[in-house]
Amino acid sequence: MKKNIAVLSGDGVGKEVSKGAIEILKAVGQQFGHEFHFQHGLIGGEAIDLEGTPLPNETIELCKQSDAVLLGAVGGPKWDQNPAYLRPEKGLLQIRKALNLFANIRPVTTYNALTDISPLKQEIIENVDFVIVRELTGGLYFGKPTGRSIENGEETAVDTLVYKRSEVERIIEKAFEMAQTRKKKVTSVDKANVLESSRMWREVAEEVSKKYPEVELEHMLVDNAAMQLIRNPRQFDVIVTENMFGDILSDEASMLTGSMGMLQSASLSSEGPSLYEPIHGSAPDIAGKNIANPIAMILSAAMMLRLSFGLEAEAKAIENAVDQVISAGHRTADIQRSGRKPVQTNEIIDHIKSALVEDGAISSIMSAYA
Ligand code: NAD
Repeated sequence: MKKNIAVLSGDGVGKEVSKGAIEILKAVGQQFGHEFHFQHGLIGGEAIDLEGTPLPNETIELCKQSDAVLLGAVGGPKWDQNPAYLRPEKGLLQIRKALNLFANIRPVTTYNALTDISPLKQEIIENVDFVIVRELTGGLYFGKPTGRSIENGEETAVDTLVYKRSEVERIIEKAFEMAQTRKKKVTSVDKANVLESSRMWREVAEEVSKKYPEVELEHMLVDNAAMQLIRNPRQFDVIVTENMFGDILSDEASMLTGSMGMLQSASLSSEGPSLYEPIHGSAPDIAGKNIANPIAMILSAAMMLRLSFGLEAEAKAIENAVDQVISAGHRTADIQRSGRKPVQTNEIIDHIKSALVEDGAISSIMSAYA
């Protein structure tokens, strides 16, 4: 198989973890006989510095002509005082709109080898396995009007939470499709006791659920959901929610796995290439020190193989290699047990490559799929 992959490394640790994903994909390509071509595009702070905009048109064109997009992370203190249109995060919002990436899929699976480093009790987080389906192109982050003005002599700021029925329908459909292949339960999270947009969201969820009689639908208020994620995360299978609620809940959920550096995501498009990225940001506090955990980015690349290219065995090989390396205790600082020496970013990438190539992660998978 030949595939063109656009790589938007971005800023801070985005560069370090993207390099890791490319190395792992090259290793998988060699082992399984695929040709992956990587082309790099600018986004975020680096694009502002070099091109004067957080998302140059060439980057959008590159992504549209590619089979899939890998994105590292954007942002950093250097650009924090810029006006809104010149902030790195604007590039993220713009690429989501330009590629129509309406569904953000965030699997949350705990590794039993890592339960001891989570701030939560082992019995709470063992065998957690759910997916957050976050709406990505609507809601508060895109609604108009937005901005500041002077009202009756006082500075006033406004943001708008707006959804069209069709936008809600397609994301709820996606959640039910996923639940059908899993434990057949959808938890729709909203704030229907306060927000009109949530009341429409709830109605649409009820309507869509009629097409999936074998899937259970429950509604949960977002404040309760935030509490339930910590109290009993095993109750969830597929959580579907609007843009900002999903943003917050998925960061909270990342702590079930122990670190922001462990959570991958896919942003699916209805028409063109999909985009794959870790859920963490550019982590300026650790950037350039060779200590970032590249696993979220590497697992995002595995999701790309599975969801965009249909390469299930190859995706599984990467996931198995990551599992082997973590179980063997080769861990970056964010997931290392206290008292044990952490490995560096480039070292853990090498361990994962070795697990793929030498330790048989690939051959065992290939025979399973033969
Ligand atoms: P962050 O995710 O960058 O960092 C939060 C914490 O997690 C930090 O302590 C960081 O060191 C740690 N962390 C993150 N990724 C890690 C990794 N791979 N390995 C080990 N530790 C990791 O969030 P933040 O500090 O709130 O934001 C920093 C910048 O990133 C801001 O400019 C923000 O706007 C941007 N941001 C970008 C994205 C994105 O590109 N998708 C997402 C969130 C934040």
